[in-house]
Amino acid sequence: MNIVVLVKQVPDTESERRLVPGSGTLDRAAADGVINELDEFAIEEGLRIAEAHGGEVTILSVGPARAAESIRKALSMGANKAVHVLDDEIAGSDALATSAVIAAALGQVGFDLVIAGAESTDARTGVVPAMLAERLGVPQLTQASKVDIDGSSVTVRRMSDDGYDVITASLPAVISVLEKINEPRYPSFKGIMAAKKKPVQTLALADLGVSAESAGAGGSATEVTDFAARPPRAAGVVVKDEGDGGAKVAGFLAERKFI
Ligand SMILES: Cc1cc2nc3c(=O)[nH]c(=O)nc-3n(C[C@H](O)[C@H](O)[C@H](O)COP(=O)(O)OP(=O)(O)OC[C@H]3O[C@@H](n4cnc5c(N)ncnc54)[C@H](O)[C@@H]3O)c2cc1C
Repeated sequence: MNIVVLVKQVPDTESERRLVPGSGTLDRAAADGVINELDEFAIEEGLRIAEAHGGEVTILSVGPARAAESIRKALSMGANKAVHVLDDEIAGSDALATSAVIAAALGQVGFDLVIAGAESTDARTGVVPAMLAERLGVPQLTQASKVDIDGSSVTVRRMSDDGYDVITASLPAVISVLEKINEPRYPSFKGIMAAKKKPVQTLALADLGVSAESAGAGGSATEVTDFAARPPRAAGVVVKDEGDGGAKVAGFLAERKFI
């Protein structure tokens, strides 16, 4: 099986994230870059499927030069090789433009199964997997909490309000995964050393036959026109219990129509 796992480098959620005035894009240099949380589960799922059904795991990442760190981390978990789409023209791409670049790369790399995280921790649009399936003309099975491969079909379990749905589609397909689908393995020392020698192919837009006009801010359907910092959290209300604490709390909640 040819399994491609999508890995996005995102700002570490522990660090302060800033938007660049004027462009409204994220100041990625201002924070440490880490593998998007759900993509670690996607990598683990890809490795488990390859171990169970044979085949190779390729990491595919669209990002600036420093995304190479996250690609190496993914390779050290056990993936076989990687593709890094790196081009200054991609900066400022929205989800639509990003999906066009990823779809072009997938067309070149080839795949039986694409595994993505259900969403990123920085933008959280959660639409890229669906956009990819549409562009590639293949089925998509999203927000999987369990994945099974049976010959040329893939079946996922997706949590729903009433329990879960079981959905099956024929390969090739795009799936996205949720946390708790598995327990991502930690890279071993042997894995970290081996990752240094694993092939990483670096591709620019021209290598993918994607014009610069269809990427970046120019190729995007959305534009960040303005942004404002979140207001500082207001100080909480302290309720002094002089035997009437319960009533005061109830009054506080009723006033705010919580009850
Ligand atoms: C604060 C902020 C807000 C934004 N708001 C919007 C918006 O409202 N609309 C919009 O169109 N764009 C928006 N963007 C831009 C958007 O983040 C990028 O285009 C991004 O690459 C794709 O969107 P996403 O991260 O939300 O993807 P999601 O759909 O949330 O990502 C799902 C999965 O797709 C894969 N994936 C996503 N991006 C990449 C990548 N670059 N390389 C490899 N795999 C990837 C990963 O597996 C990821 O887990 C925003 C960016 C920021 C920083």
